[in-house]
Amino acid sequence: MPELSKRTAPFTDSVIRRMTRVSLQYGAVNLSQGFPDFDPPRALLDRLAETANENVHQYSITWGAQNFREALAEKQSRLMGRTVDPNSEVVVTCGSTEAMMAAMLTVADPGDKVIVFSPFYENYGADTILSGAEPIYVPLYPPDFRFHPDELEAAFRQHPKALILCNPSNPCGKVFTLEELSLIADMAERYDVFVITDEVYEHIVYEPNRHVYFASLKGMWERTVSCSSLSKTYSITGWRLGYIIAPAHIADAAKKVHDFLTVGAAAPLQEAAVTGLRFGDDYYKKLQNTYTEKRNLFLRGLDDLGLVHTEPQGAYYVLLDISEFGYESDLAFCEDLAREVGVGAVPGSSFFREPVNHLIRLHFAKKNETLFEALNRLADLRKKIKPQK
Ligand code: GLN
Repeated sequence: MPELSKRTAPFTDSVIRRMTRVSLQYGAVNLSQGFPDFDPPRALLDRLAETANENVHQYSITWGAQNFREALAEKQSRLMGRTVDPNSEVVVTCGSTEAMMAAMLTVADPGDKVIVFSPFYENYGADTILSGAEPIYVPLYPPDFRFHPDELEAAFRQHPKALILCNPSNPCGKVFTLEELSLIADMAERYDVFVITDEVYEHIVYEPNRHVYFASLKGMWERTVSCSSLSKTYSITGWRLGYIIAPAHIADAAKKVHDFLTVGAAAPLQEAAVTGLRFGDDYYKKLQNTYTEKRNLFLRGLDDLGLVHTEPQGAYYVLLDISEFGYESDLAFCEDLAREVGVGAVPGSSFFREPVNHLIRLHFAKKNETLFEALNRLADLRKKIKPQK
């Protein structure tokens, strides 16, 4: 038999998605892969039911249905502080997963270097490998997960083609400050580098933190490929609706990549999602309040159990310190946690370049009752998982 491609050899399947399967196997409360167990807004579901009997069952325009792009451009124009053109500056993709992959294939050639902050969202490792790019990792240091400007500049000096910026950040919950973003912008300009953003948690930010769109910074529009999705904002992770917003010459190239990767996102789902894109500001305020409540509930619960964790400024993940259990392998810990305690988590090592094995990631995008159940189970953590010698 011939060998399979060398491209697929250097990475494993996604550990995040694998932990969902492990959770299902053991009947664990799944706080691993980040998705809600509560319903999307009723108006979206009603509109989805209506679309079944409408004429939206064939391909939409490959880079997105006209009314979806118009509604999206109108919403993002309000937020990003510039008029986004729905025809030339938007590409609708199958989730931000495709948006990020298409963005990488659009800007990077095999052998190009790409700056990635560590910890990072698992997909970026695979994105760089599949596009043939070489990551340069720049550490973010706890507890604030700030980067060291000298280390970032050292990475820029290696002539990277692009920098990937996940803001608000998965898994560490960092919301980059204006000052930090300005530093990155200054270097991106001086070293002439593209910035690919992943802003899927743009609406999940905790006071007093504020989300600043990188593309809105002075001079940055021209070199920024903004990626995001509707998954987290409207609790529709299964609809797979994401997008790229970028200047026309970048969007043009991304349209070609996207066309041959997937042709397009699901037409009836785009049609139904327009309802969400047209929601008023009150919807986003309410979303923020809901997640703030969940964050507080969950963090307080972890505190009561004496478990050491990060304090997310945005997104819906916490990193829990499991040092006291002395495990060599955080993956083994997560398997024991799912089986013995009944809570699903993602091993922190999936997110770090550095050899980190003392953290696990939990998320709190769940009904309050689910979070209480998880906390109840975690109350037995020290009884059920004994420290390794
Ligand atoms: N972003 C989510 C997470 O980090 C999951 C995304 C996905 O699995 N596509 O868990």
